[in-house]
Amino acid sequence: MTELNLPTKMLIDGQFVLGEGEAERVLNPATGELLASVPEASVDQVHKAVSAAHRAFDAWSETTPVDRSRLLLKLADAIETRAADFARLESLNCGKPYLRALGDEIPAIADCYRYFAGAARCMIGSVTNEYLAGHTSMIRRDPIGVVASIAPWNYPLMMAAWKTAPALAAGNTGVLKPSEQTPLTSLLLAELAAEIFPKGVFNVICGRGPTVGQPLVEHPKVAMVSVTGDVATGRKILQAATGTLKRTHLELGGKAPVIVFDDADLTAVVEGIRTFGYYNAGQDCTAACRLYAGAKVYDRLVADLSSAVKTLKMGTQDEPEVEIGPLISDRQRNRVASFVERAQMTGHMEITAGGKLRAGAGFFYEPTVIAGARQDDEIVKREVFGPVVSVTRFSDAEQAIAWANDSDYGLASSVWTQDVGRAMRVAKKLQYGCTWINTHFMLVNEMPHGGLKSSGYGKDMSMYALEDYTVARHVMVKL
Ligand code: NAD
Repeated sequence: MTELNLPTKMLIDGQFVLGEGEAERVLNPATGELLASVPEASVDQVHKAVSAAHRAFDAWSETTPVDRSRLLLKLADAIETRAADFARLESLNCGKPYLRALGDEIPAIADCYRYFAGAARCMIGSVTNEYLAGHTSMIRRDPIGVVASIAPWNYPLMMAAWKTAPALAAGNTGVLKPSEQTPLTSLLLAELAAEIFPKGVFNVICGRGPTVGQPLVEHPKVAMVSVTGDVATGRKILQAATGTLKRTHLELGGKAPVIVFDDADLTAVVEGIRTFGYYNAGQDCTAACRLYAGAKVYDRLVADLSSAVKTLKMGTQDEPEVEIGPLISDRQRNRVASFVERAQMTGHMEITAGGKLRAGAGFFYEPTVIAGARQDDEIVKREVFGPVVSVTRFSDAEQAIAWANDSDYGLASSVWTQDVGRAMRVAKKLQYGCTWINTHFMLVNEMPHGGLKSSGYGKDMSMYALEDYTVARHVMVKL
Protein backbone atom coordinates (compact mmCIF):
# COMPACT_ATOMS: atom_id res chain seq x y z
CA MET A 1 0.00 0.00 0.00
CA THR A 2 1.40 3.40 -0.98
CA GLU A 3 1.74 6.15 1.63
CA LEU A 4 -1.22 8.45 1.23
CA ASN A 5 -1.97 11.57 3.20
CA LEU A 6 -5.59 11.64 4.20
CA PRO A 7 -7.14 14.96 3.20
CA THR A 8 -9.07 16.77 5.90
CA LYS A 9 -9.31 20.34 4.57
CA MET A 10 -12.32 21.81 2.81
CA LEU A 11 -12.15 24.09 -0.23
CA ILE A 12 -13.80 27.49 0.15
CA ASP A 13 -13.19 30.28 -2.36
CA GLY A 14 -9.97 28.67 -3.60
CA GLN A 15 -8.55 28.26 -0.07
CA PHE A 16 -8.00 25.02 1.83
CA VAL A 17 -9.38 25.44 5.33
CA LEU A 18 -10.15 23.19 8.25
CA GLY A 19 -13.72 23.14 9.43
CA GLU A 20 -14.41 25.23 12.51
CA GLY A 21 -17.18 22.95 13.78
CA GLU A 22 -17.23 19.64 15.62
CA ALA A 23 -14.88 16.91 14.37
CA GLU A 24 -16.41 13.85 12.69
CA ARG A 25 -14.69 10.49 13.21
CA VAL A 26 -14.14 8.87 9.81
CA LEU A 27 -13.69 5.11 10.13
CA ASN A 28 -12.35 2.19 8.15
CA PRO A 29 -15.43 -0.09 8.11
CA ALA A 30 -13.30 -3.19 7.56
CA THR A 31 -11.56 -2.76 10.92
CA GLY A 32 -13.67 -0.21 12.78
CA GLU A 33 -10.50 1.83 13.30
CA LEU A 34 -10.26 5.60 13.05
CA LEU A 35 -8.91 6.80 9.71
CA ALA A 36 -9.15 10.54 10.18
CA SER A 37 -10.89 13.17 12.18
CA VAL A 38 -12.55 15.71 9.86
CA PRO A 39 -13.90 18.89 11.44
CA GLU A 40 -17.17 20.05 9.98
CA ALA A 41 -17.92 23.51 8.61
CA SER A 42 -19.33 26.19 10.87
CA VAL A 43 -22.45 28.02 9.72
CA ASP A 44 -20.18 30.97 8.90
CA GLN A 45 -18.09 28.71 6.64
CA VAL A 46 -21.25 27.46 4.91
CA HIS A 47 -22.09 31.09 4.25
CA LYS A 48 -18.56 31.81 2.97
CA ALA A 49 -18.68 28.86 0.55
CA VAL A 50 -22.07 29.88 -0.85
CA SER A 51 -21.00 33.52 -1.13
CA ALA A 52 -17.83 32.49 -2.99
CA ALA A 53 -19.86 30.41 -5.43
CA HIS A 54 -22.29 33.29 -5.84
CA ARG A 55 -19.49 35.77 -6.62
CA ALA A 56 -17.92 33.34 -9.10
CA PHE A 57 -21.19 32.71 -10.94
CA ASP A 58 -21.22 35.80 -13.17
CA ALA A 59 -17.87 35.13 -14.79
CA TRP A 60 -18.26 31.34 -14.92
CA SER A 61 -21.69 31.51 -16.51
CA GLU A 62 -20.22 33.79 -19.20
CA THR A 63 -17.61 31.22 -20.23
CA THR A 64 -18.29 29.38 -23.48
CA PRO A 65 -19.21 25.69 -23.47
CA VAL A 66 -15.85 24.87 -25.02
CA ASP A 67 -13.99 26.65 -22.22
CA ARG A 68 -15.90 24.74 -19.56
CA SER A 69 -15.46 21.57 -21.54
CA ARG A 70 -11.67 21.95 -21.56
CA LEU A 71 -11.56 22.29 -17.79
CA LEU A 72 -13.85 19.31 -17.22
CA LEU A 73 -11.62 17.23 -19.49
CA LYS A 74 -8.61 18.35 -17.44
CA LEU A 75 -10.37 17.25 -14.29
CA ALA A 76 -11.12 13.84 -15.84
CA ASP A 77 -7.45 13.46 -16.77
CA ALA A 78 -6.34 14.50 -13.29
CA ILE A 79 -8.69 11.94 -11.71
CA GLU A 80 -7.22 9.24 -13.91
CA THR A 81 -3.69 10.28 -13.04
CA ARG A 82 -4.55 9.92 -9.36
CA ALA A 83 -6.79 6.86 -9.91
CA ALA A 84 -4.87 4.69 -7.44
CA ASP A 85 -5.10 7.34 -4.70
CA PHE A 86 -8.83 7.87 -5.25
CA ALA A 87 -9.47 4.12 -5.26
CA ARG A 88 -7.37 3.70 -2.13
CA LEU A 89 -9.23 6.42 -0.24
CA GLU A 90 -12.64 5.22 -1.38
CA SER A 91 -11.90 1.64 -0.48
CA LEU A 92 -10.47 2.58 2.93
CA ASN A 93 -13.37 4.86 3.76
CA CYS A 94 -16.20 2.63 2.47
CA GLY A 95 -14.64 -0.82 2.96
CA LYS A 96 -14.94 -1.56 -0.78
CA PRO A 97 -12.56 -4.08 -2.36
CA TYR A 98 -9.70 -1.90 -3.65
CA LEU A 99 -9.57 -3.46 -7.11
CA ARG A 100 -13.31 -2.93 -7.61
CA ALA A 101 -13.02 0.74 -6.67
CA LEU A 102 -10.09 1.09 -9.05
CA GLY A 103 -11.47 -0.95 -11.93
CA ASP A 104 -15.21 -0.23 -11.77
CA GLU A 105 -15.72 3.16 -10.17
CA ILE A 106 -12.82 5.45 -11.09
CA PRO A 107 -13.09 4.90 -14.88
CA ALA A 108 -16.84 5.58 -14.76
CA ILE A 109 -16.21 8.76 -12.74
CA ALA A 110 -13.62 10.11 -15.19
CA ASP A 111 -15.99 9.21 -18.02
CA CYS A 112 -18.80 11.15 -16.35
CA TYR A 113 -16.75 14.38 -16.44
CA ARG A 114 -15.77 13.60 -20.06
CA TYR A 115 -19.37 12.95 -21.06
CA PHE A 116 -20.54 16.30 -19.67
CA ALA A 117 -17.53 18.06 -21.17
CA GLY A 118 -18.89 16.96 -24.57
CA ALA A 119 -22.56 17.31 -23.70
CA ALA A 120 -22.12 20.98 -22.72
CA ARG A 121 -21.34 21.67 -26.40
CA CYS A 122 -24.22 19.64 -27.81
CA MET A 123 -27.44 20.82 -26.19
CA ILE A 124 -30.44 20.81 -28.50
CA GLY A 125 -33.85 22.44 -28.36
CA SER A 126 -36.70 24.02 -30.34
CA VAL A 127 -35.81 25.81 -33.55
CA THR A 128 -35.75 29.62 -33.57
CA ASN A 129 -38.75 30.72 -35.66
CA GLU A 130 -41.60 33.19 -36.13
CA TYR A 131 -44.26 31.32 -34.17
CA LEU A 132 -46.15 34.62 -33.99
CA ALA A 133 -46.06 36.64 -37.23
CA GLY A 134 -43.61 39.53 -36.96
CA HIS A 135 -41.93 38.09 -33.87
CA THR A 136 -38.90 35.83 -33.66
CA SER A 137 -38.80 33.39 -30.76
CA MET A 138 -35.76 31.57 -29.55
CA ILE A 139 -34.95 29.27 -26.65
CA ARG A 140 -32.01 29.77 -24.35
CA ARG A 141 -30.85 27.15 -21.85
CA ASP A 142 -29.15 29.04 -19.07
CA PRO A 143 -27.47 27.99 -15.83
CA ILE A 144 -29.46 28.36 -12.64
CA GLY A 145 -26.91 29.81 -10.22
CA VAL A 146 -25.34 28.30 -7.12
CA VAL A 147 -26.08 24.57 -6.85
CA ALA A 148 -25.76 22.78 -3.51
CA SER A 149 -24.83 19.13 -4.14
CA ILE A 150 -25.40 16.76 -1.23
CA ALA A 151 -24.01 13.24 -1.60
CA PRO A 152 -24.48 9.90 0.23
CA TRP A 153 -21.90 7.41 1.53
CA ASN A 154 -22.34 4.41 -0.75
CA TYR A 155 -20.50 5.75 -3.83
CA PRO A 156 -19.09 9.03 -2.49
CA LEU A 157 -16.97 10.13 -5.45
CA MET A 158 -19.30 8.81 -8.12
CA MET A 159 -22.26 10.65 -6.62
CA ALA A 160 -20.12 13.81 -6.39
CA ALA A 161 -19.31 13.41 -10.10
CA TRP A 162 -22.93 12.74 -11.10
CA LYS A 163 -23.88 16.02 -9.43
CA THR A 164 -21.00 18.37 -10.10
CA ALA A 165 -20.24 17.38 -13.72
CA PRO A 166 -23.60 18.46 -15.23
CA ALA A 167 -23.88 21.44 -12.87
CA LEU A 168 -20.48 22.87 -13.88
CA ALA A 169 -20.88 21.92 -17.55
CA ALA A 170 -24.09 23.93 -17.66
CA GLY A 171 -22.37 27.03 -16.23
CA ASN A 172 -23.46 26.81 -12.60
CA THR A 173 -21.14 27.19 -9.66
CA GLY A 174 -21.49 25.02 -6.62
CA VAL A 175 -20.92 23.80 -3.11
CA LEU A 176 -20.51 20.05 -2.67
CA LYS A 177 -21.23 18.45 0.71
CA PRO A 178 -20.20 14.80 0.88
CA SER A 179 -21.62 12.49 3.53
CA GLU A 180 -20.04 13.11 6.94
CA GLN A 181 -19.10 9.41 6.96
CA THR A 182 -17.23 9.47 3.64
CA PRO A 183 -15.68 12.87 2.89
CA LEU A 184 -12.17 11.75 1.86
CA THR A 185 -12.42 11.36 -1.93
CA SER A 186 -14.42 14.59 -2.25
CA LEU A 187 -11.64 16.39 -0.37
CA LEU A 188 -9.04 14.96 -2.75
CA LEU A 189 -11.27 15.98 -5.66
CA ALA A 190 -11.25 19.50 -4.21
CA GLU A 191 -7.44 19.50 -4.35
CA LEU A 192 -7.51 18.73 -8.07
CA ALA A 193 -10.40 21.08 -8.82
CA ALA A 194 -8.62 23.98 -7.10
CA GLU A 195 -5.82 23.70 -9.68
CA ILE A 196 -8.26 23.72 -12.59
CA PHE A 197 -11.30 25.93 -11.95
CA PRO A 198 -11.37 29.65 -11.11
CA LYS A 199 -11.71 30.21 -7.37
CA GLY A 200 -15.19 29.98 -6.01
CA VAL A 201 -16.57 27.88 -8.88
CA PHE A 202 -16.15 24.59 -7.02
CA ASN A 203 -16.32 24.52 -3.22
CA VAL A 204 -16.39 21.52 -0.90
CA ILE A 205 -17.59 21.64 2.69
CA CYS A 206 -17.93 18.81 5.21
CA GLY A 207 -20.40 18.03 7.91
CA ARG A 208 -23.58 16.41 9.05
CA GLY A 209 -27.06 16.97 7.67
CA PRO A 210 -28.66 19.00 10.47
CA THR A 211 -25.62 21.19 11.21
CA VAL A 212 -24.17 21.80 7.72
CA GLY A 213 -26.61 20.38 5.14
CA GLN A 214 -29.61 22.24 6.52
CA PRO A 215 -28.04 25.76 6.54
CA LEU A 216 -26.68 25.06 3.07
CA VAL A 217 -30.13 24.13 1.75
CA GLU A 218 -31.75 27.11 3.45
CA HIS A 219 -29.18 29.63 2.22
CA PRO A 220 -30.98 32.30 0.18
CA LYS A 221 -28.18 32.45 -2.40
CA VAL A 222 -28.43 28.73 -3.20
CA ALA A 223 -30.67 28.45 -6.27
CA MET A 224 -30.87 24.68 -6.58
CA VAL A 225 -30.34 21.70 -4.28
CA SER A 226 -29.41 18.31 -5.62
CA VAL A 227 -29.41 15.43 -3.16
CA THR A 228 -28.88 11.69 -3.26
CA GLY A 229 -29.89 10.02 -0.05
CA ASP A 230 -32.65 8.52 1.99
CA VAL A 231 -36.34 9.28 1.35
CA ALA A 232 -36.63 10.89 4.80
CA THR A 233 -33.68 13.17 3.96
CA GLY A 234 -35.30 14.08 0.64
CA ARG A 235 -38.46 15.12 2.49
CA LYS A 236 -36.51 17.26 4.98
CA ILE A 237 -34.62 18.94 2.17
CA LEU A 238 -37.81 19.64 0.24
CA GLN A 239 -39.31 21.23 3.34
CA ALA A 240 -36.18 23.32 3.95
CA ALA A 241 -36.18 24.44 0.32
CA THR A 242 -39.76 25.70 0.39
CA GLY A 243 -38.84 28.90 2.24
CA THR A 244 -36.88 30.20 -0.74
CA LEU A 245 -38.66 28.08 -3.41
CA LYS A 246 -35.50 26.47 -4.71
CA ARG A 247 -35.29 24.07 -7.58
CA THR A 248 -34.68 20.55 -6.20
CA HIS A 249 -33.22 17.42 -7.73
CA LEU A 250 -33.94 14.32 -5.66
CA GLU A 251 -32.39 10.87 -6.07
CA LEU A 252 -33.69 8.78 -3.21
CA GLY A 253 -33.93 5.13 -2.27
CA GLY A 254 -34.95 2.04 -4.19
CA LYS A 255 -36.20 -1.53 -3.82
CA ALA A 256 -35.59 -3.08 -7.21
CA PRO A 257 -37.91 -5.90 -8.29
CA VAL A 258 -36.38 -8.69 -10.38
CA ILE A 259 -38.94 -10.77 -12.27
CA VAL A 260 -37.67 -14.20 -13.28
CA PHE A 261 -39.97 -16.06 -15.67
CA ASP A 262 -39.99 -19.85 -15.99
CA ASP A 263 -38.21 -19.69 -19.36
CA ALA A 264 -35.31 -17.54 -18.12
CA ASP A 265 -31.73 -18.69 -18.54
CA LEU A 266 -31.28 -19.71 -14.91
CA THR A 267 -27.51 -19.87 -15.02
CA ALA A 268 -27.45 -16.25 -16.18
CA VAL A 269 -30.00 -15.25 -13.52
CA VAL A 270 -28.01 -16.86 -10.71
CA GLU A 271 -24.74 -15.37 -11.92
CA GLY A 272 -26.42 -11.99 -12.36
CA ILE A 273 -28.08 -11.86 -8.93
CA ARG A 274 -24.92 -13.15 -7.24
CA THR A 275 -23.24 -10.03 -8.61
CA PHE A 276 -26.00 -7.39 -8.84
CA GLY A 277 -27.71 -8.22 -5.55
CA TYR A 278 -24.52 -8.02 -3.49
CA TYR A 279 -22.25 -5.52 -5.24
CA ASN A 280 -21.02 -2.88 -2.76
CA ALA A 281 -22.39 -5.18 -0.02
CA GLY A 282 -25.87 -4.47 -1.36
CA GLN A 283 -25.59 -0.80 -0.38
CA ASP A 284 -26.91 0.31 -3.71
CA CYS A 285 -30.24 1.92 -4.52
CA THR A 286 -30.56 -0.28 -7.64
CA ALA A 287 -29.47 -3.56 -5.95
CA ALA A 288 -31.31 -6.62 -7.30
CA CYS A 289 -32.85 -7.33 -3.91
CA ARG A 290 -36.49 -8.30 -4.47
CA LEU A 291 -36.84 -11.42 -6.58
CA TYR A 292 -40.11 -12.70 -8.00
CA ALA A 293 -39.68 -16.20 -9.39
CA GLY A 294 -42.10 -18.15 -11.62
CA ALA A 295 -43.64 -21.21 -9.93
CA LYS A 296 -41.73 -23.73 -12.04
CA VAL A 297 -38.34 -22.13 -11.57
CA TYR A 298 -38.68 -21.05 -7.95
CA ASP A 299 -37.19 -24.09 -6.15
CA ARG A 300 -34.18 -24.36 -8.44
CA LEU A 301 -33.56 -20.63 -8.29
CA VAL A 302 -33.59 -20.60 -4.49
CA ALA A 303 -31.26 -23.62 -4.32
CA ASP A 304 -28.80 -22.46 -6.99
CA LEU A 305 -28.75 -18.84 -5.86
CA SER A 306 -28.18 -19.85 -2.23
CA SER A 307 -25.26 -22.09 -3.23
CA ALA A 308 -23.79 -19.36 -5.44
CA VAL A 309 -24.14 -16.67 -2.76
CA LYS A 310 -22.30 -18.87 -0.25
CA THR A 311 -19.26 -18.72 -2.56
CA LEU A 312 -19.05 -14.90 -2.47
CA LYS A 313 -15.70 -14.00 -1.00
CA MET A 314 -16.16 -11.49 1.80
CA GLY A 315 -13.16 -9.70 3.21
CA THR A 316 -11.08 -6.61 3.74
CA GLN A 317 -10.05 -4.22 0.97
CA ASP A 318 -6.89 -5.99 -0.23
CA GLU A 319 -7.64 -9.65 0.39
CA PRO A 320 -7.00 -11.60 -2.81
CA GLU A 321 -10.16 -12.12 -4.88
CA VAL A 322 -12.35 -10.33 -2.34
CA GLU A 323 -15.82 -9.63 -3.80
CA ILE A 324 -17.76 -8.13 -0.93
CA GLY A 325 -16.67 -5.81 1.85
CA PRO A 326 -18.25 -4.74 5.14
CA LEU A 327 -21.21 -2.42 5.60
CA ILE A 328 -20.47 1.24 6.12
CA SER A 329 -21.02 1.31 9.89
CA ASP A 330 -22.00 -0.74 12.89
CA ARG A 331 -25.32 1.09 12.88
CA GLN A 332 -26.02 0.06 9.28
CA ARG A 333 -25.05 -3.53 10.07
CA ASN A 334 -27.41 -3.63 13.06
CA ARG A 335 -30.15 -2.25 10.87
CA VAL A 336 -29.60 -4.99 8.29
CA ALA A 337 -29.40 -7.68 10.99
CA SER A 338 -32.67 -6.55 12.52
CA PHE A 339 -34.45 -6.79 9.14
CA VAL A 340 -33.26 -10.40 8.82
CA GLU A 341 -34.23 -11.23 12.42
CA ARG A 342 -37.72 -9.86 11.91
CA ALA A 343 -38.05 -11.86 8.68
CA GLN A 344 -37.03 -15.01 10.54
CA MET A 345 -39.54 -14.32 13.30
CA THR A 346 -42.48 -14.41 10.87
CA GLY A 347 -42.08 -18.20 10.70
CA HIS A 348 -42.87 -18.55 6.98
CA MET A 349 -39.52 -17.37 5.62
CA GLU A 350 -36.33 -19.39 5.46
CA ILE A 351 -32.77 -18.06 5.49
CA THR A 352 -31.12 -20.22 2.82
CA ALA A 353 -27.74 -18.44 2.84
CA GLY A 354 -25.99 -16.13 5.30
CA GLY A 355 -28.16 -14.44 7.91
CA LYS A 356 -25.38 -13.70 10.39
CA LEU A 357 -22.89 -11.05 11.42
CA ARG A 358 -19.28 -12.02 10.95
CA ALA A 359 -17.52 -12.09 14.30
CA GLY A 360 -14.35 -10.06 14.77
CA ALA A 361 -13.33 -6.63 13.62
CA GLY A 362 -15.20 -4.62 11.02
CA PHE A 363 -18.86 -4.28 10.12
CA PHE A 364 -19.28 -7.47 8.08
CA TYR A 365 -22.62 -9.12 7.42
CA GLU A 366 -22.86 -12.38 5.49
CA PRO A 367 -24.49 -12.25 2.06
CA THR A 368 -28.00 -13.51 2.68
CA VAL A 369 -30.87 -15.12 0.75
CA ILE A 370 -34.37 -15.20 2.26
CA ALA A 371 -36.79 -17.62 0.60
CA GLY A 372 -40.56 -17.82 1.00
CA ALA A 373 -41.09 -14.06 1.27
CA ARG A 374 -44.64 -12.80 0.70
CA GLN A 375 -45.68 -9.57 -0.93
CA ASP A 376 -46.75 -7.92 2.34
CA ASP A 377 -43.60 -8.83 4.24
CA GLU A 378 -41.41 -6.00 5.45
CA ILE A 379 -38.39 -7.55 3.72
CA VAL A 380 -40.23 -7.18 0.39
CA LYS A 381 -41.47 -3.67 1.05
CA ARG A 382 -38.65 -1.77 2.75
CA GLU A 383 -35.20 -0.82 1.58
CA VAL A 384 -32.63 -2.86 3.54
CA PHE A 385 -29.51 -1.38 1.89
CA GLY A 386 -27.41 -4.42 2.69
CA PRO A 387 -26.46 -7.83 1.24
CA VAL A 388 -29.93 -9.34 1.55
CA VAL A 389 -32.06 -10.71 -1.32
CA SER A 390 -35.61 -12.00 -0.85
CA VAL A 391 -37.35 -14.49 -3.15
CA THR A 392 -41.13 -14.60 -3.66
CA ARG A 393 -43.03 -17.09 -5.83
CA PHE A 394 -45.52 -15.73 -8.40
CA SER A 395 -48.13 -17.50 -10.47
CA ASP A 396 -48.57 -15.38 -13.61
CA ALA A 397 -47.20 -12.28 -15.34
CA GLU A 398 -50.05 -10.03 -14.16
CA GLN A 399 -49.38 -10.93 -10.55
CA ALA A 400 -45.63 -10.38 -10.96
CA ILE A 401 -46.17 -6.94 -12.54
CA ALA A 402 -48.71 -5.94 -9.88
CA TRP A 403 -46.40 -7.00 -7.04
CA ALA A 404 -43.37 -5.36 -8.64
CA ASN A 405 -45.29 -2.08 -8.93
CA ASP A 406 -46.77 -2.39 -5.44
CA SER A 407 -43.94 -0.37 -3.93
CA ASP A 408 -43.31 3.14 -2.66
CA TYR A 409 -40.14 3.14 -4.75
CA GLY A 410 -39.66 3.43 -8.49
CA LEU A 411 -35.97 3.49 -9.35
CA ALA A 412 -34.81 0.27 -11.02
CA SER A 413 -36.20 -3.12 -12.07
CA SER A 414 -35.35 -6.09 -14.25
CA VAL A 415 -37.10 -8.81 -16.23
CA TRP A 416 -35.52 -12.16 -17.07
CA THR A 417 -37.06 -14.23 -19.89
CA GLN A 418 -36.11 -15.58 -23.31
CA ASP A 419 -39.37 -14.32 -24.83
CA VAL A 420 -38.63 -10.86 -26.29
CA GLY A 421 -42.31 -9.96 -26.65
CA ARG A 422 -43.01 -10.77 -23.01
CA ALA A 423 -39.92 -8.86 -21.89
CA MET A 424 -41.08 -5.76 -23.76
CA ARG A 425 -44.69 -6.02 -22.54
CA VAL A 426 -43.56 -6.31 -18.93
CA ALA A 427 -40.94 -3.56 -19.27
CA LYS A 428 -43.65 -1.21 -20.53
CA LYS A 429 -45.81 -1.88 -17.48
CA LEU A 430 -43.13 -1.46 -14.82
CA GLN A 431 -43.30 1.90 -13.04
CA TYR A 432 -39.56 2.32 -12.67
CA GLY A 433 -37.02 4.82 -13.98
CA CYS A 434 -35.06 1.94 -15.49
CA THR A 435 -35.89 -1.61 -16.55
CA TRP A 436 -33.16 -4.02 -17.59
CA ILE A 437 -33.89 -7.12 -19.63
CA ASN A 438 -31.79 -10.20 -18.86
CA THR A 439 -29.36 -8.10 -16.88
CA HIS A 440 -29.46 -5.62 -14.01
CA PHE A 441 -27.42 -2.76 -12.59
CA MET A 442 -25.57 -1.66 -15.74
CA LEU A 443 -25.36 2.12 -16.08
CA VAL A 444 -23.89 4.29 -18.83
CA ASN A 445 -23.23 8.02 -18.76
CA GLU A 446 -25.29 8.53 -21.95
CA MET A 447 -28.52 7.25 -20.35
CA PRO A 448 -30.52 8.80 -17.50
CA HIS A 449 -30.62 7.37 -13.99
CA GLY A 450 -33.49 8.46 -11.79
CA GLY A 451 -36.76 7.37 -10.32
CA LEU A 452 -40.48 7.69 -9.90
CA LYS A 453 -42.59 7.89 -6.73
CA SER A 454 -40.57 8.06 -3.49
CA SER A 455 -37.34 7.37 -5.38
CA GLY A 456 -37.40 11.02 -6.42
CA TYR A 457 -37.52 12.80 -9.76
CA GLY A 458 -34.03 14.06 -10.59
CA LYS A 459 -32.15 12.57 -13.51
CA ASP A 460 -28.44 11.88 -13.17
CA MET A 461 -26.17 11.35 -16.18
CA SER A 462 -27.25 11.90 -19.82
CA MET A 463 -28.61 15.03 -21.53
CA TYR A 464 -31.60 14.88 -19.16
CA ALA A 465 -29.27 15.80 -16.29
CA LEU A 466 -27.96 18.75 -18.26
CA GLU A 467 -31.59 19.84 -18.70
CA ASP A 468 -32.19 19.48 -14.96
CA TYR A 469 -29.26 21.80 -14.20
CA THR A 470 -30.37 24.49 -16.68
CA VAL A 471 -33.47 26.57 -17.17
CA ALA A 472 -35.24 26.88 -20.55
CA ARG A 473 -35.87 30.56 -21.34
CA HIS A 474 -37.84 32.12 -24.17
CA VAL A 475 -36.50 35.28 -25.82
CA MET A 476 -38.88 36.98 -28.28
CA VAL A 477 -37.98 39.84 -30.63
CA LYS A 478 -40.62 42.06 -32.27
CA LEU A 479 -39.39 42.51 -35.81
P1 NAD B 1 -28.70 10.09 3.98
O1 NAD B 1 -30.04 10.52 3.54
O2 NAD B 1 -28.50 9.74 5.40
O3 NAD B 1 -27.61 11.21 3.66
C1 NAD B 1 -27.42 11.71 2.36
C2 NAD B 1 -26.79 13.08 2.46
O4 NAD B 1 -27.76 14.00 2.95
C3 NAD B 1 -25.61 13.16 3.41
O5 NAD B 1 -24.62 14.01 2.85
C4 NAD B 1 -26.22 13.78 4.65
O6 NAD B 1 -25.30 14.47 5.45
C5 NAD B 1 -27.22 14.74 4.03
N1 NAD B 1 -28.30 15.17 4.89
C6 NAD B 1 -28.95 14.44 5.84
N2 NAD B 1 -29.90 15.19 6.42
C7 NAD B 1 -29.89 16.40 5.82
C8 NAD B 1 -30.63 17.60 6.00
N3 NAD B 1 -31.61 17.70 6.89
N4 NAD B 1 -30.34 18.66 5.20
C9 NAD B 1 -29.35 18.57 4.29
N5 NAD B 1 -28.60 17.48 4.10
C10 NAD B 1 -28.87 16.39 4.85
O7 NAD B 1 -28.34 8.91 2.99
P2 NAD B 1 -27.13 7.93 3.10
O8 NAD B 1 -27.43 7.05 4.28
O9 NAD B 1 -25.84 8.68 3.05
O10 NAD B 1 -27.25 7.10 1.75
C11 NAD B 1 -28.09 6.00 1.64
C12 NAD B 1 -29.38 6.37 0.94
O11 NAD B 1 -29.11 6.97 -0.33
C13 NAD B 1 -30.22 5.16 0.64
O12 NAD B 1 -31.56 5.37 0.99
C14 NAD B 1 -30.08 5.00 -0.88
O13 NAD B 1 -31.12 4.33 -1.49
C15 NAD B 1 -29.91 6.39 -1.34
N6 NAD B 1 -29.24 6.41 -2.64
C16 NAD B 1 -29.96 6.73 -3.77
C17 NAD B 1 -29.36 6.76 -5.01
C18 NAD B 1 -30.13 7.11 -6.25
O14 NAD B 1 -29.52 7.33 -7.28
N7 NAD B 1 -31.44 7.21 -6.21
C19 NAD B 1 -28.01 6.49 -5.13
C20 NAD B 1 -27.29 6.18 -3.97
C21 NAD B 1 -27.93 6.15 -2.73
